[in-house]
Amino acid sequence: MSAVALFVRALLSSALLWLVIYEQGINGMKAHTQGAIIIGGLFPIHKKGTKSKCGLINKDRGIQRTEAMLFAIDRINEDPNILGNIKLGAIILDTCSSDSYALNQSLEFVRASINTVDSTAFQCQDGSHPKLKFTNKAITGVVGGSYSEVSLQVANLLRLFRIPQVSPASTGTSLSDKTRYDFFARTVPPDTFQAVALVDIVQSFNWSYVSLVSSEGQYGDSGMKAFQQEARSRNICIAVNDKVPHSATKAMFDEIYRNLLTKSNARGVVLFTRAEDSRGILEAIKRANSTGTFAWVASDGWGKQDKLVEGIEDVAEGAITVELQSKKIEEFDWYMQNLTAYNNQRNPWFEEYWEDVFSCKLPHNVINKNNATVPVCSPNLRLDESVGYKQESKVQFVVDAVYAFAHALHGVWFELCAPYGKDYCAQMRNLDGGVFYRDYLLNVSFMDLAGSEVKFDEQGDGLGRYDIYNYQRIGNSSVFEYKSVGSWYDGLHLNLEEVVWNQGEKKIPVSICSAPCGVGEVKKMQVGDVCCWLCSSCKPWEYVLDEFTCADCGHGRWPYPDKTSCYDLTQQYMRWNSIFAIVPIGISCLGIVLTGAVIFVFLQNSDTPIVKASGRELSFMLLTGILICFLMTFVLLAKPSMEICGLQRFGVGFGFSIIYSALLTKTNRISRIFDNARKSARRPSFISPKSQVVITSVFIAVQVIGAAVWFIIEPPGVRQYYPDGKRNEVILKCRIKDSSFLISLVYNMILITICTVYAVKTRKIPENFNESKFIGFTMYTTCIIWLAFVPIYFGTGNSFEVQITTLCVSISLSSFVALFCLFSPKIYIIVFHPDKNVRKLTMNSATYKKAPTSSTCGTTTNHGSSAEQVKLTVQTTPSRVPAESDRDSLTSL
Ligand code: GLU
Repeated sequence: MSAVALFVRALLSSALLWLVIYEQGINGMKAHTQGAIIIGGLFPIHKKGTKSKCGLINKDRGIQRTEAMLFAIDRINEDPNILGNIKLGAIILDTCSSDSYALNQSLEFVRASINTVDSTAFQCQDGSHPKLKFTNKAITGVVGGSYSEVSLQVANLLRLFRIPQVSPASTGTSLSDKTRYDFFARTVPPDTFQAVALVDIVQSFNWSYVSLVSSEGQYGDSGMKAFQQEARSRNICIAVNDKVPHSATKAMFDEIYRNLLTKSNARGVVLFTRAEDSRGILEAIKRANSTGTFAWVASDGWGKQDKLVEGIEDVAEGAITVELQSKKIEEFDWYMQNLTAYNNQRNPWFEEYWEDVFSCKLPHNVINKNNATVPVCSPNLRLDESVGYKQESKVQFVVDAVYAFAHALHGVWFELCAPYGKDYCAQMRNLDGGVFYRDYLLNVSFMDLAGSEVKFDEQGDGLGRYDIYNYQRIGNSSVFEYKSVGSWYDGLHLNLEEVVWNQGEKKIPVSICSAPCGVGEVKKMQVGDVCCWLCSSCKPWEYVLDEFTCADCGHGRWPYPDKTSCYDLTQQYMRWNSIFAIVPIGISCLGIVLTGAVIFVFLQNSDTPIVKASGRELSFMLLTGILICFLMTFVLLAKPSMEICGLQRFGVGFGFSIIYSALLTKTNRISRIFDNARKSARRPSFISPKSQVVITSVFIAVQVIGAAVWFIIEPPGVRQYYPDGKRNEVILKCRIKDSSFLISLVYNMILITICTVYAVKTRKIPENFNESKFIGFTMYTTCIIWLAFVPIYFGTGNSFEVQITTLCVSISLSSFVALFCLFSPKIYIIVFHPDKNVRKLTMNSATYKKAPTSSTCGTTTNHGSSAEQVKLTVQTTPSRVPAESDRDSLTSL
């Protein structure tokens, strides 16, 4: 040690010496047993009082721990295998649960070190050197304190004098920091483990939103930090994080209660508080008549103390508390049972304890014997369960701490003194505290009186093992107990079935900020928040990708009812049994039957003049076209496939092109014949049936070639159609645009237009050639149908069924018009007036004047003047009357 350090220590020592003398004057009480080696003890024999005064006697954590130390020392002294002949002694002091009070008290432990001060550094007035008044034995080590802040303060002092310290209760995390507390060890684990255990418990209840209350000071602060850190890593949020100040008043506890109420969703409240603070909070709840509002999960500050919940058991009911795992030392209970206020002179606080436990007064403490309000203590009183005695949970750790010192000292003795005999030797006395702590104390390993292994890790900490208790009512009685419901060692083992909450409730209280989102909902939360959210529904066609995201299933897909994934929608197409199919099928079948009947009649009468006159070949072509158009209904209604789509594209245009090509050929021929007849007697070319067929075929071929080109440019196929605004529908359609389909009919429209022009042109020819008139009717009606069809087709685009039906009906109507207007007059004559089905050589219109003109297409209007005109022309220019053969093929109705 350097000269400067020695000087500082000398100065400090002299200052402390006077402090010790002063303090001893005030707080002289100590438990003292003689021995060659003295071990100090610091216990919270009294609770914290107001200002610097001590509070009430602390029966369990104070007296029991004190007695546990004395008991352990007795046992060690009786054991011939430990420390040879050397006896251990003890000086035990009260901390009054206060760090500043404990610091004052622990100066006693350094007094001997102060005595070692070189007295030659001081000189009396007469020139002599002073002689020290107190010649105490040096303290080898200290067992204590209990509250972490007490241990922390004391550790700061003891390290200056190189006195090792072993705490049996202080769990504050910072005490593991060996750069600051290099003479401190403990038989208990640091709170980092306890925080993990508490978070494990919270998690096992599925709580994600809890409040946290901690005591100001080392224990609460470090516990709170460790809990917060662990909770954050597991997405558990702290709703209210409150701190109980030192010496908190009732008003402060009431304020804490009100703060907890602001986040009442957080029903779970974790207490990392000292015993008196835990009680203060429970009392505030009691005052507010709020029993059962919160569910408590408490650290070992509450532990399993009965005194803490006395009178407020109903508020504490259901609490889950953590206590360091310990075993009962049976021998200690026997030891306690044998203790009485009369035979325990070495413990100066025992009388107070005795009187408190038995609510009596010891005879020598009774002032007025005749007027005593409290009974005099009977000498037969004993500490057993009937008077509420229960071994305190950290007694084992106190005994372990004393034994740790004993085993370490035994190691030193064995090495340094044993070769010289069984007694205390100078080498041992002079051993440096640092060496003792590092090389002997931290290396001890032994089985304790309860059968548990005791050893320290490199930080001087004990093993992290905890018991978990549930404060329950016993049956229907008014008695409560801490029932063990699990343990924690490298993980949580909790029997949830055994846990009973406030008022005997078995259901775990809910402690969450926001309820989980329903099916098909995702969480909307603020950045950084993991516990509170709003739920928002996904769109009907979206599924829940993860708890925060809705994802589109995509066209043609729809989410399952649980919204976790999607399935392919069933493709819709026209069903044969749908009303939209039945109606066009009915119309089409009627058309097919009628067309078949006409074909039949024509075939039967193919050699009759009327059939011949109407042009057999073209008539059959026309009927074929009409038949194809009727048949197209079935193709249009069929389930789309590549073949069906090809057929649709080809068939509709093809069918129409046959009809209108034939009609155009017809009207064109009539027109040419009459035009020609007016100009010359020469027979117009290409009017023979053969030519007619060829011309018609050429017209049809244009459509066929157009369709073929279209097939090459846009091969047929199917596609899925997703109607706007109806995401749950997928319609199987042919892969053509509606517009393309109409374009494919453009050629037919041109044919219809030209045909109509011819029909108009030839409307005035004589009545017996007036097939052109019926062609005219056909064309006008067709034009109207087609003009109406286009807007209807596009207008019904949002319903594929209506659209297909409209198309089918329109095609069938066009076919009906052609069938009726062109063939019904002929059929009428063939079937009902076969007498008129004879060849007429004259073209006297009067002969056939009364012949029926039309059944469906209206009646013949007065064409007298025009017929007259043609007649005149024919009569005046007989040479230019159409040739007989030509006339044969002209209608002669
Ligand atoms: N573990 C508490 C602390 O470190 C002390 C509990 C007790 O004394 O039982 O403050």
